[in-house]
This record gives sequence, structure tokens and C-alpha cells, in this order.
Amino acid sequence: MALDKSVLSDYKKAGSILSEALAHGNKLIKVDANILEVCQAVEKKIHDLGGQMAFPAQPSIDNIAAHWCPDPGSKEVFTEGMLVKFDVGVHINGRIADSAFSVDLSDDKRYEGLIRASKNARDEALKIMKPGTTLGEIGRVIQDEITREGFSPIRNLSGHGLGEYEVHTSPSIPNFDTGDKTELKEDMVVAVEPFATPGQGKIFEQEQGNIYALIHVKPVRSPYAREALKIIESYNKLPFTLHWLSAQMGVGQAKLAMRELIQKGAVEVYPPLPEVSGPVVSQSEHSVIVADKPIVYTRE
Ligand code: MN
Ligand code: MN
Repeated sequence: MALDKSVLSDYKKAGSILSEALAHGNKLIKVDANILEVCQAVEKKIHDLGGQMAFPAQPSIDNIAAHWCPDPGSKEVFTEGMLVKFDVGVHINGRIADSAFSVDLSDDKRYEGLIRASKNARDEALKIMKPGTTLGEIGRVIQDEITREGFSPIRNLSGHGLGEYEVHTSPSIPNFDTGDKTELKEDMVVAVEPFATPGQGKIFEQEQGNIYALIHVKPVRSPYAREALKIIESYNKLPFTLHWLSAQMGVGQAKLAMRELIQKGAVEVYPPLPEVSGPVVSQSEHSVIVADKPIVYTRE
């Protein structure tokens, strides 16, 4: 069995657009560059290339493993010593490509080993994304590569299946040996994303964030919330961020709208995910179609 040709071509197109946009981002992530502007430049590149955002560009920094976006109008810049994870998603007709890399902005390249750990773990895991490989085996390979470099995988973050217009579906791809005997099946589409840290290897959820996704359209009172809902419906229940919304309706109104939509339970929030013990985290991610020769469609 093989994926329908048009489905495969959508995945490959999403993957190659993402790969090109990430290469562009890699050049822009420099000390003193405005973080929001880098995100916007990469998102513009994706649109220019004919892709749609599957979720916002997320430049999570240092101890934040994932789910961080700059606020609208943010003047925050990258600074010397930062470890940046840059995680971006593109879709074509709902077929999602999800990929991330880490950048060491320290002068003495002190995070090289940590970045190598998550990258090697990802690349070794990708080699075994074949029918019959068990989830536990994938986790073991990831854990072995990361501990070999003297670090710990983050255990409560995992890779995931990619569904149509759905960023996180089953199977969940563990970053340590869970012993899970569930086998990969041909044509499963999954993201492999090891995180490595010198810390405990666990993240928690912060209280607030600026990344959201629509759950259900609900009746809302204010004209702002109604206007926001109209915009948000165009995202197909995929994640979005405050600076997208405020670019269309103004930051004050976007904030008021989001407050109401959260309160009504119309949207959910994805808050930043810091490491519990504080130190830095690296991440590397690719999306792959399970096959005897795994198709890593975000690689080129
Ligand atoms: Mn990702
Ligand atoms: Mn992912």
C-alpha cells in the first residue's frame, strides 16, 4: 500500500517549502536581530512559496523547550549566549510538515554538544521509521544517543502523528525507552522530535501564553470577539498566535477578543513549556512517512 499520489505530493511540497523557509530563518537568527521580525520574515517566506502555516513560527529560547512566541510589537532581540529552538509548521491542503532546529548563539559555542545530542538522536531514530519498528525501540535509540553525549531526553515531550489539519495525533513517539510494543505501520506520517537537556528532563506548563487554537465556535458578546472568531475560523482549528490576530485587528482589540474567547471556552491556550530544573534545552525535528525507506519529507 502507498499513499495516494496527490497526498504524497502535498506532503512533499509542504516539506520542501518548510525546509527552504527554515534555511532562510537559520540565516536570520543572529545576535541583535529582532525576534518577532525573524518569525514574520519566515512566515512571509512560507506564504510567498505557496504554503499555509500549520502553526506559528516558535523561537523558544534557553530553558523554554517549546510553545513560545514573541508578543505583538515586541522589541526583544536575540542576544549572545542564547540557545534558540526554531520550530515551524507548514501545510498544503491540511497535510502538515513539522520541523525544528537549534541554534547556538554563544561566542564559545558552549551548546554544540547539547545540540548534537538532539540532532543525532533524531537522525538515528529517522533511520528506523519503518513498518514493524516499535515505539519503545524508537525511544531507546533517542535516549541512547542523548545519554551518550551526557544529557537527558525530555520524557514528557514526544514526537507525534500528523493528521489532516491535526498537528498532534497518535502515535505518540517517545523520547525514552517506554518498552511500548506498538508497531509503526506503513504510511504513518509522524514527527520525530527529541529534546536534550543537562537538567532533569521534564517540562511544566506556564500559566499563560499567546499561542491558541479554536476548540468550538461559540456565541460571543463583543464585536471584537466576533471579528476575531471570523479570522480564527480560517485557521482550520490549527494553532495561531496573538501577533497574527493583532496584525489584522489591532493589538488592544485582539487581546480583549482572546480574553473573551478563552473565558467562553472557545479556544485553548498552549503556554510555554520550560524545563523544571532550569537549564537549557535543545530540540531537533523532522517529519517522516513510515516506509521500508523512510521518507523524511522535511529534509530537502
Ligand atoms: Mn515542531
Ligand atoms: Mn512536532
